[in-house]
Amino acid sequence: MFKINIRDKALNQLGNYINKTHEQIGLLIGKFENGELYINEVINGTGEADKSHCMFSQDLLAEVADNIINGRLEGSIVGWCHSHIHGGIFMSPIDIETQCKLQQFSQYIVSMVVDVSSRQFGIFIYDQQSGPIQIPSEYISIS
Ligand SMILES: [Zn+2]
Repeated sequence: MFKINIRDKALNQLGNYINKTHEQIGLLIGKFENGELYINEVINGTGEADKSHCMFSQDLLAEVADNIINGRLEGSIVGWCHSHIHGGIFMSPIDIETQCKLQQFSQYIVSMVVDVSSRQFGIFIYDQQSGPIQIPSEYISIS
């Protein structure tokens, strides 16, 4: 388990999610430093998600990777996020699948789920033994 720091900017970008009537999906951009994961920015991948599926397009991943390599984006991909329209902060089987794919690139990849009905979010990692683990709120700070 590691600490997570979410920048105001990223939180504002996430705030847009709760006003949308269909599932939103995005990538979390930031860095892992001194044992803490910083989430600086949310890149929206709207249009790739529908009501029940929220997989990433290869195009979005390629575009973001390209922007990072070319210095247009500072940091790296530290996770992904999506919204749940019908409520609940949990990882669906598809969410777990997506998380596992991204975790292949780095162990410091998190999954953020935004619950539109309660306007709250949860952050998850996936453990091979225990399954999805929600990061306790005392590990999460906002700056
Ligand atoms: Zn989901």
